[in-house]
Amino acid sequence: MTDAVVVGSGPNGLAAALTLARAGLGVEVFEAHDRIGGGLRTEPLFDSEVVHDICAAVHPMAPVSPFMRSLDLEEHGVRLMHSPAAYAHPLKGRPAVVAWRDLDATCAELGDDGPRWRRLMLPLMEHSSAVVDLMLSTQRTVPPLRALTVLAPRLPAHSLRLGGSLRTETARALLAGVAAHGIGRLPSPTSSAVALLLGHLAHTTGWPVAQGGSGSIATVMAAQIEKLGGRIHTGARVNSLRDLPAGRSITMLDISPRELARIAPLPRGYLRRLSRYRYGPGAAKADFLIDGTIPWTDHRLSRAATVHLAGAHGTAAELARAETVTAKGLKAAHPYIILVDPAAADPARAVRGKRPVWAYAHVPNGDTRNHLPMIRAAIEAHAPGFTDSVVAERGLSAAQLGEYNTNYVGGDIGSGAMSLWQTLARPVARWNPYRTPLPGTWLCSSATPPGPSVHGMCGYHAAVAALEDRKHPYPSGVRPKIYA
Ligand SMILES: Cc1cc2nc3c(=O)[nH]c(=O)nc-3n(C[C@H](O)[C@H](O)[C@H](O)COP(=O)(O)OP(=O)(O)OC[C@H]3O[C@@H](n4cnc5c(N)ncnc54)[C@H](O)[C@@H]3O)c2cc1C
Repeated sequence: MTDAVVVGSGPNGLAAALTLARAGLGVEVFEAHDRIGGGLRTEPLFDSEVVHDICAAVHPMAPVSPFMRSLDLEEHGVRLMHSPAAYAHPLKGRPAVVAWRDLDATCAELGDDGPRWRRLMLPLMEHSSAVVDLMLSTQRTVPPLRALTVLAPRLPAHSLRLGGSLRTETARALLAGVAAHGIGRLPSPTSSAVALLLGHLAHTTGWPVAQGGSGSIATVMAAQIEKLGGRIHTGARVNSLRDLPAGRSITMLDISPRELARIAPLPRGYLRRLSRYRYGPGAAKADFLIDGTIPWTDHRLSRAATVHLAGAHGTAAELARAETVTAKGLKAAHPYIILVDPAAADPARAVRGKRPVWAYAHVPNGDTRNHLPMIRAAIEAHAPGFTDSVVAERGLSAAQLGEYNTNYVGGDIGSGAMSLWQTLARPVARWNPYRTPLPGTWLCSSATPPGPSVHGMCGYHAAVAALEDRKHPYPSGVRPKIYA
């Protein structure tokens, strides 16, 4: 019997489905695409043996998210694999700067700013679980005291001044590249929170890739749902909630607020509030199949799976200008680019000498331009010969990304701008942000707290809220460990 229906099989939809199935409910998942996974799909784009991550490629949240940890990925044959460095950042005319897994090695890299980098990161590392707990919470609970004590002196400083107390260009650029993962104005309170969260994780649990590609995480989640009797339907776009199986008491929606307004008969007041929800800048994607390795001028860049490309010179100031211009919906001369070379962490991703290279640039929401040539040229500037190594390539504009997945409205991969207000009030200001005005109907996508990234916590929190609402007993022993 179908007690619960989940629309959408992204990490949050699958997390909601699994949480409900673990609680003993009969669950059915309906996914519009032919394949499950949402932002967790991996496909052979050009060569049948080399696979590319279409969306998410790097998983800093996977080792720390309580929900993801409950999956026991390794036991199910999926290792999280690390490159020697977590991330790196080329600078024009100077050696690149590298964030090693090891804090001491990174501080040594940063010269005069080494002690300041240590003072910034070490307390966050020492209280990492409290910091992660707060950042991945519903944002409706009392923050752990230990998290407040380490974040309170750091968040405001970095919200107001990019790089906070860091003085050297290299250290400021290194941190700005992390802050820009927040996609939006720089500096800002949310980019500051992102920099502190991802920045310290680089030196603790790292920024791994999933062995065999991100799709392997979705496969593990789907297998666990099906093992508990759940059913997953693909190629099944839901155009109206009326089309879903009757008799269900819970409807979980892993969809964007815009899609929610399209398919659900919502009351006018809530619709009006949803219409005020803002989407952020878009992402323009580029995928390359290359022969050999990326010919970086500074060979140390090949030690990091993730590389941040920031403007013509790579400086923090250039990056801040580009991000702020893009957030205003304007075209930046040199948009920020994140590049991932998954084989740097998972060597088996390179087959017969050919490897996938993944990159995206931050561009205005809804941008229809194909930025493949711009992204290729930006890589070439730090890796002369890259263009010649390209065997095949594909570019997707931000608008096309939005068509590929309706959650990424206008190419906004966060499914909603990450302003300070919208971090808390996703999708509207409500005590229970997952609840919609329709009985038994819940939103569980990254348009709810704690927001984007592959952690499954939006889905988990929404499912727990639905179970508590029904006073459904939550069986002991299946809760993610941190909540036990
Ligand atoms: C290019 C790109 C790069 C990224 N890189 C990273 C990264 O490296 N690391 C990271 O942590 N995160 C990354 N992200 C973000 C991450 O992928 C998302 O935050 C995450 O996937 C959100 O999960 P979700 O379940 O909320 O939504 P999604 O993963 O978007 O899944 C939503 C699913 O719902 C389906 N759906 C929507 N409407 C309907 C409907 N009406 N009927 C049926 N099905 C429907 C969609 O087809 C989709 O499969 C990236 C995203 C993109 C696009």
